[in-house]
Amino acid sequence: MVAISTTNLDKNATYGITGEVHAAIINEFGKRPLGNPSSIHSSGQRARFLIEEARSSVAELVGAGGGDRVIFTSGASEANNCVILGTALNPRAHIITSTIEHPSVLEAVREGARRGALTTEVTVGRSGTLITEDVLSAIRPDTRLISIMYANNETGSVQPVTEIGATLRKLSCSAIFHSDVVQALGKVNFNFKESLLDFASISAHKIGGLAGIGALIGRAGIEITPLIYGGPQEKRARAGTENTIGIFSFGVAARALIKEGMHRYKKLEENREIVWSVIRDTLPGVLPTVDLKNTLPNTLSLILPNINSADLVVALDLEGIEISSGSACASGKPGPSHVMLAMGLSDDEARRVIRISVGSEDSPDSLKTAAQRIVSTIKRMAHE
Ligand code: PLP
Repeated sequence: MVAISTTNLDKNATYGITGEVHAAIINEFGKRPLGNPSSIHSSGQRARFLIEEARSSVAELVGAGGGDRVIFTSGASEANNCVILGTALNPRAHIITSTIEHPSVLEAVREGARRGALTTEVTVGRSGTLITEDVLSAIRPDTRLISIMYANNETGSVQPVTEIGATLRKLSCSAIFHSDVVQALGKVNFNFKESLLDFASISAHKIGGLAGIGALIGRAGIEITPLIYGGPQEKRARAGTENTIGIFSFGVAARALIKEGMHRYKKLEENREIVWSVIRDTLPGVLPTVDLKNTLPNTLSLILPNINSADLVVALDLEGIEISSGSACASGKPGPSHVMLAMGLSDDEARRVIRISVGSEDSPDSLKTAAQRIVSTIKRMAHE
């Protein structure tokens, strides 16, 4: 078998299972039977213990405590749907979101509208960052939910969630405040309590855990309307036998992030700069789509002159380098990204956008080599 070594510069799509998580899974589940966490025998109780340990780690990572809840779900898509469709059950609830949300928010809000909710999608300008006043001015007496992502998965633009939360508190606004925090977790200093959120959605595979597991964080005392009914799991907020290995992986990944601490954010920025400096210095026509000062430290969204980004992604894949031509969920379907179009890019411009997203443990040498390959591939394609 030929060993193909790839450089994953598409960490926003999925981070990849870290060595720590992989080793912990083998160690924990390689030799022991895995019981149903609802069973009272010892393999069941071991699974229950691992789940509760992971819940504490995830709560600590996001800064939840004092009665706040961590409800494990099948991913952030489910967590987003749970909050949004739960609110839409309210007769004629008004829901506010933005045009740059992940499809698991936007499409859930649109489904809410089909079920009778009234919705407002706040637009964004060319900066890719929402304006707090635009969100606040959309509030009406019947507004039940405001759902604004913490950071955008495609551009990395950090949104004014903390500022919106503080103003909602000052205004004594009774609407539920939710944020999709998937991309911010582990990249900026997110704190659930300080953000004054009622709900936050997170996902394990974006921080080094397994895909297919996420969590809805809920403020103490706030009601959760289940999306899935059945057994009493997750204190009746989410029925179904728990995904013990997935939850375990989430806990191990969370613990590793807690250990890395603030150092991680600096490392991400340094690693992005290694890639960006090579591209910037050799290809002056390649420009960031948004101001890098207000982005996640690991994300580089670039617009290429005269090269279709999907063609570049395929060409780089042959070189063993993985980047994205849009968000992972969007890149499977043809057409330009809704985020770029929402920011006012033309159809043609949107088709020339690439996203490079790095991790904290990437080696400087591998990043430099990958960046040089990206440059040479772009130069070659420009002459074809
Ligand atoms: N929200 C954002 C911002 C994302 O980037 C993603 C995944 O790409 C999701 C939600 C969905 O997360 P999951 O894959 O856990 O359903």
